[in-house]
Amino acid sequence: MKDKISIVGAGLVGSLLAVILKQKGFDVQVFEKRKDPRKSDVAEGRSINLALSNRGIRPLKMAGVYETIEPFLIPMKGRMMHAVDGELTFQPYGKEGQFINSVSRAQLNELLIESAEKSGVEVHFDHKCTNVDFEKSTLTFQNGSTIQSDLIVGTDGAFSEIRKKLQLTDRFNFSQHYIEHGYKELAIEPVNNKFLMEPNYLHIWPRGNFMLIALPNNDKTFTCTLFFPFEGNPSFSQLNTKKEVDDFFDKYFKDAKALIPDLTDQFFSNPTSSLITTKCDPWFKNSTILLGDAAHAIVPFYGQGMNSGFEDVRLFIELAEEMDWNWEQILPKYSSSRKKDADAISELALHNFIEMRDHVGDPDFLRRKEIESKIQAKYPKEWIPLYSMVTFSDIPYSEALRLGKIQKKIMDEILNQETEINLEKIIERFNTLKKAY
Ligand code: FAD
Repeated sequence: MKDKISIVGAGLVGSLLAVILKQKGFDVQVFEKRKDPRKSDVAEGRSINLALSNRGIRPLKMAGVYETIEPFLIPMKGRMMHAVDGELTFQPYGKEGQFINSVSRAQLNELLIESAEKSGVEVHFDHKCTNVDFEKSTLTFQNGSTIQSDLIVGTDGAFSEIRKKLQLTDRFNFSQHYIEHGYKELAIEPVNNKFLMEPNYLHIWPRGNFMLIALPNNDKTFTCTLFFPFEGNPSFSQLNTKKEVDDFFDKYFKDAKALIPDLTDQFFSNPTSSLITTKCDPWFKNSTILLGDAAHAIVPFYGQGMNSGFEDVRLFIELAEEMDWNWEQILPKYSSSRKKDADAISELALHNFIEMRDHVGDPDFLRRKEIESKIQAKYPKEWIPLYSMVTFSDIPYSEALRLGKIQKKIMDEILNQETEINLEKIIERFNTLKKAY
């Protein structure tokens, strides 16, 4: 177990992986291009907070770091929808007692880096990786230094340098796609140290082709994110003056606007960022492998980017343990077995944007939810709604996608028929279709 392992990127996935590999007895070093985030402000107008759920929590527990992180989490038990007239409607995410957790990405990252260092991992900041030699298994950094390792893991995010080098190798497939929407963050500050909205919900203002969401933070602020097209009517390209921004928020998000007195200042000083999906395969070459966003960046609408990256770590470690840490065999096996699940969550995340921004408020959607909860109440083991499979279970994403498609087919059939709903027949049909597809 004395193998030397180099991890490129001390983001969420790289830091968590480092903790576990060190615990397993390896000689682990992490190389990060940024300065130490604990000593410098690197937010750049983005204070992203994330929804942490089951698939992310399990690997954090595996690493023994969940207890350190838990006090920083804010439970969100469902969606709080804001209609144009300000009316609020609550939709639970799952069964009673099920919730997702809001956590600051920066805070979580710092806690994980801290845990890695405490377990003896060497974290080298200001070390931008500029090259990887797959034959010699060496990394080169901007400062000219080079290191040789038994295993190299690229956890350097959606614009991974390691992946760019893989793109220069034979038979490596890569694709990227920017969606037509970008995002901009806006903060709702507390008054008298109190949250200005109910904190234990994910607030959402669905508006057809665009939406605003808000997640709570520990300092009693909310981070709002406007997901909005770059071009068209309406779009970012049309909001160029304070008046245009004011009028737009008055029309679509009046109740949110009332909570952000410096709205236009924030709007023009915070960046507008784009959203990308990347896919590639295989994820490895010789003794180098990609994990997390470096292997599969997805849009954030299912709240699964980090969760899937943490699940990568768990599955990679479990497989490695099973295969007695024989990297030569583990890398191809992991890459080929996990790929279908990364593709599935990528598809689900794109689809969930349409659901969040367009469907969550409409009567057809609410009727489906109502029928589904009746089926689930009677057959809790057989029928798990798609959102719950993705968020509250470890069912492989590809299987959740497959079962979700069958559930949709059945729900379409139910809504098209006039006869009374028969739960027994529904579950029978579900079981038949499960075998057929
Ligand atoms: P990153 O967190 O990007 O870390 C990569 C690290 O590598 C960085 O520290 C970077 O500085 C470093 N690096 C890059 N290049 C080099 C180099 N050449 N040399 C050395 N170091 C390098 N996920 C969820 O699960 N739930 C959510 O609710 C959610 N919401 C999101 C909302 C938004 C608006 C966005 C943008 C993302 C959201 N995500 C969410 C996704 C989540 O942020 C990512 O999936 C997650 O950060 C990926 O972790 P990572 O470690 O793979 O990559």
